[in-house]
Amino acid sequence: MTGLDVAELARGVQAGERRALARAITLVESRRADHRAEAGALLEALAGSGRQALRIGLSGTPGVGKSTFIESFGMMLTAQGLRVAVLAVDPSSARSGGSILGDKTRMDRLSRDPRAFIRPSPSQAQLGGVARRSREAVALCEAAGFDVVLIETVGVGQSETLVAGMADLFVLLLAPAGGDELQGVKRGIMEIADLILVNKADGDLKPAALRTVADYAGALRLLRKRVQDPEGFPKALAVSALEEAGLAAAWAEMKALADWRRANGHFVRVRAEQARAWFEDEVRQGLLARLERDAGLRARMAALGDAVEAGSAAPSRAAAEVLAALEAAGQG
Ligand code: GDP
Repeated sequence: MTGLDVAELARGVQAGERRALARAITLVESRRADHRAEAGALLEALAGSGRQALRIGLSGTPGVGKSTFIESFGMMLTAQGLRVAVLAVDPSSARSGGSILGDKTRMDRLSRDPRAFIRPSPSQAQLGGVARRSREAVALCEAAGFDVVLIETVGVGQSETLVAGMADLFVLLLAPAGGDELQGVKRGIMEIADLILVNKADGDLKPAALRTVADYAGALRLLRKRVQDPEGFPKALAVSALEEAGLAAAWAEMKALADWRRANGHFVRVRAEQARAWFEDEVRQGLLARLERDAGLRARMAALGDAVEAGSAAPSRAAAEVLAALEAAGQG
């Protein structure tokens, strides 16, 4: 053990001390076995805090204005006395080791705001690690008493689904479209978005932004209505992160949606389902980790992989063999 005082760290997190929170997140990011054990104890110690933030997932492609928006939006919230945490979930860092969202110069004003806490995405070896760290970091921010946790991601791969699975609301940020066709936004993302914000609705771009809002409002109306949505949702709105326009309206919509879901039991139900999915994901990840840790199993898997590739073994048959070996190793 590293001799970390978990109880003291838990106290610091609950007192809202930023250094303690930063340290706690570093702990949950670590993959060392002793750190994992400490992280587990810390999360357990904080589990009873009963504090709940509004967790807002925010996605958009690079350049759409995510950091500008988070800064303006975050400053508006802190000016209202709210405490805001910003976490980045960046699966590109899992692949390349470099982070799209990790740039330290981003959100300069918000990062100096005493009511805000900003944490870039760590570079992790695999997406499973990014997922775990992010869920745990969100839980830490809640225990630290933040009112709003913004979970930011770029629109690549599975990251939106991942973020939607740890958020109460999901916001998609888009740029004004040049033409009159929808910007190839994948249907799956439209289906998880609660609010589409078309950013850069200012200056020369304003007419295009308003057209884009109308296009998306039309497209959203064609989607099947979800049980967790009141009339009129999902919605599309125009904002300008740069000119800080439309932000109060966007926040009012988010609050209205969250309040409606709370009043109708969906808020608690979705959180419960997310907790179950988290648990099941942890079990899956644990099984994978066990497979990777065992040198004998790894060698067997490599050999069977070669055989499958060469056509001398059937994929399902080979997989069954590995699973049987894993079971035998678990009993041994
Ligand atoms: P990110 O990559 O999604 O985080 O995007 P950034 O926040 O870094 O913004 C990308 C570029 O768009 C920058 O040059 C910003 O100044 C610009 N930008 C962001 N928001 C707005 C906006 O509301 N209006 C205009 N005109 N430009 C914006």
